[in-house]
Amino acid sequence: MAILFASTRDEHIRTWVPALRQALGPREVVVAPDIPDRRAITHAVVWKPGRDTLANLPNLRAVFSLGAGVDDLLAGELVPNHIPLVRMVDPELTRGMVEYVLLHVLYLYRQVPQYRSAQAGAKWRPLAQPRACEQTVGFLGLGELGLAAARAVAKLGFGVVGFTRTPRQTNGIACLSGADKWPRFLASCDILVCLLPKTPTTLGLLDATALAMLPHGANLISASRGGIVVEPDLLAALASGQLGHAVLDVFEREPLPEDSPLWLHPNITVTPHIAAVTYPATAIESVLENLRRDRAGKPLRHVVDRARGY
Ligand code: NAP
Repeated sequence: MAILFASTRDEHIRTWVPALRQALGPREVVVAPDIPDRRAITHAVVWKPGRDTLANLPNLRAVFSLGAGVDDLLAGELVPNHIPLVRMVDPELTRGMVEYVLLHVLYLYRQVPQYRSAQAGAKWRPLAQPRACEQTVGFLGLGELGLAAARAVAKLGFGVVGFTRTPRQTNGIACLSGADKWPRFLASCDILVCLLPKTPTTLGLLDATALAMLPHGANLISASRGGIVVEPDLLAALASGQLGHAVLDVFEREPLPEDSPLWLHPNITVTPHIAAVTYPATAIESVLENLRRDRAGKPLRHVVDRARGY
């Protein structure tokens, strides 16, 4: 029985491999692409593995993704269809996303972009400041990350509403779902936070039509996956004033090309896909716990539903 570790990031090899070897024993962890005995591999821990890395492993039982999003693994068909794919759910990853959302909700609500631009022109220009309870922050996706972030934002006194694929009861957070509620949800959002997985149904969801349903001058935080926000439509909505400011952590192409108009746009804040990172020190427990469960014949946690795409 051996665990295969496959990642294209040197930093992952430096951190995850010693941690896994310490927890499981040095012989139990094999690092791709050097796989001396393919029959010995029962589980794989992966980040953007090569095309054939997970093929021809006859005793593979499950694949653990180092990322919370698995769209690349599914789109690239990198994990054989019959093998359970488990995504990363880790309290520190969630905490990172909560921090990122809180930081940028306050940044937008307290009009920091406007004050920075006034400062650049040496302009002393106080703006009317609404109260938090007069503002609604809408969460597109109330999963592991969206729900934690929504609860933290609600604690600051903002109105909070969520939108999900299936109807949900969430303590203290109003939640809408279904095509008929979509316009109502968008129309309520002073700040829209996108924490949806990238799937065939969310790809291109935030297009010109959706952005036009937001209140005029609304703000956007996009922190899950590029491609959900249609970038040319976003630029048009900023140009018309329909959208006030966009905080973008994720993009249609990453790294964001140097010549992208998003970089220097005065009403866009760019961060390089760092909203929430996976820390091996805590995330390893999520992998080990599932490994123990599988070896004990218990069901795995956080298995991706391939039909839904998340
Ligand atoms: P999750 O627990 O799977 O939750 C996904 C949420 O999205 C659920 O509430 C789901 O609705 C909703 N949803 C899915 N498809 C929908 C649709 N078509 N319409 C409306 N709602 C839909 O995912 P998570 O752990 O919160 O993570 C979300 C995403 O964040 C990941 O997929 C990943 O891409 C991204 N991420 C980004 C970073 C970063 O650093 N930028 C870090 C980690 C993760 P239901 O409740 O009805 O299922």
